[in-house]
Amino acid sequence: MNEPFWREHYDDGVSFQLPPLEPLPTTLRRVAERQPRSTAIVFLGSRISYRRLWNEARRFAGALAASGVEPGDRVALMLPNSPQFVVAFYGALLAGATVVNVNPMYTARELAHQLGDSGARALVLLDLLWPRFEEIQDEFALKAVVRTGIQDYLPFPKNRLFPLKARREGTWPERLGGTPWKAFLRNGRESAPPPREPRLDDLALLQYTGGTTGTPKGAMLTHRNLASNAHQVKAWIPDFREGGEVILGVIPFFHVYGMTVAMNLAVVGGARLVLLPRWDTKLTLETIQRERPTLFPGVPTMYVAINTSPLTPRYRLGSIRACISGSAPLPVEVAQTFEKITGAKLVEGYGLTESSPVTHANPIYGRRKKGAIGLPLPGVEARIVDPDGQPLPPGEVGELVVKGPNVMKGYWNRPEETAQTLKDGWLFTGDVARMDEEGYFYIVDRKKDMIIAGGYNIYPREVEEVLYQHPAVKEAAVVGVPDAYRGETVKAFVVLKEGYEGQVSEEELKQFAKERLAAYKVPKLWEFRDDLPKTAVGKILRRMLK
Ligand code: AMP
Repeated sequence: MNEPFWREHYDDGVSFQLPPLEPLPTTLRRVAERQPRSTAIVFLGSRISYRRLWNEARRFAGALAASGVEPGDRVALMLPNSPQFVVAFYGALLAGATVVNVNPMYTARELAHQLGDSGARALVLLDLLWPRFEEIQDEFALKAVVRTGIQDYLPFPKNRLFPLKARREGTWPERLGGTPWKAFLRNGRESAPPPREPRLDDLALLQYTGGTTGTPKGAMLTHRNLASNAHQVKAWIPDFREGGEVILGVIPFFHVYGMTVAMNLAVVGGARLVLLPRWDTKLTLETIQRERPTLFPGVPTMYVAINTSPLTPRYRLGSIRACISGSAPLPVEVAQTFEKITGAKLVEGYGLTESSPVTHANPIYGRRKKGAIGLPLPGVEARIVDPDGQPLPPGEVGELVVKGPNVMKGYWNRPEETAQTLKDGWLFTGDVARMDEEGYFYIVDRKKDMIIAGGYNIYPREVEEVLYQHPAVKEAAVVGVPDAYRGETVKAFVVLKEGYEGQVSEEELKQFAKERLAAYKVPKLWEFRDDLPKTAVGKILRRMLK
């Protein structure tokens, strides 16, 4: 691999050579042989060793095969972060199947679209979600439907606490079909050899994304893609302690970001994964104090929540050493405050589903630049190109394109969209960016989020960065709304920090923005909100705001 010119900005210790790659289940087997008794997963008081994780993944693979699932078949998972997720994910891969991640927040219709589009042959879902599947189950002939619940992994086996609570609240489904988790695992034998060892270029995952065109489609990620990206991220942490890290797994694994940066990173590094099924600030603070994670990958809204919670000063958060924030811009203010509170390093990274996902990050110990997504990870090539795809010199704004072992094979059954997105091995990200003389990249905005008001191009991100600098602002989102005169005009949605509600006027914020931005960028319309609509990984849903 050629050493790129920005090599000198990597901190010493960032390895350029990725280790020889192997499918992730092979790595899990080796880790389980090397450190069988070390804890792989901590989940609400339960501890699961690497040996047990590997054995259960083997059982799950065997049980899939016993149900008639064949190599190449798609297996859908509709699960929050849980031991079941990890077992089913690695088990399905071991069986040679392709995982299809389904967001547990999806409605029956959205689930049906994903099952239909992917041609899934099996589904593993949380028992509470059963009614959603029941509505559409007649449309699909699945070979296996497995249902599971939090009680399957609580430390006290007969615990009925969670179903009881759900029953009391009337959210527990009346009738449950499918095969219960433990019964399903009993159908598989630990000793059974996998039907066929997965190969590096086999499809491992269909990860649904709107991509740059909006229609949901499955990004085809191979074993090579997933293994590469886990190793690329690991290489980025120069002081990564093999077998000694504790990773907080609170970002959802059904999104490729959490899957790579928390779950798969844990497996390739023999780390302990502390799982939380959903974000809850208090529970997260308690968990950090008790389980002492060393790495906390997250999304900006999580760090904002910790920065602004009145509970934070009561907890000891000093175990955290490094955090990579991805999936949305990380305002500089947010990173600085978080670092002050915890003493950890928090750096911004960047990526997209189609690249498994991480392609860029700021060096954790080396030189970080304000507002930058950082440098390409080892093995990633990145360029800025003009509308004809020609490379642009440093400083010029164009589309970011990337190449590397982590870039997808294409979109499932969508040759036209694949051809628009992948050209000569380059992935067109749909993000508008620039690179400076030293090779640091800056996202200017998403191609389709750019606002054109009275002929001026306005990038919402730039305006949001300014609003975040105001001490009363907790969150801000800027969108373009139709305007008879200018075509579009700039509108800001603002959430104020606790205690500031009603204390800060539109005029004050406008003045603040005016002092820092050209007049045409200053929002003309303002709206104060209690919160902003977000995706599961904390991306603000601009479309809904419009
Ligand atoms: P997804 O495929 O859902 O992960 O979305 C990928 C998109 O998220 C990218 O194309 C970017 O538009 C956006 N994104 C991810 N990380 C960042 C970041 N650090 N700054 C700005 N946008 C980001």
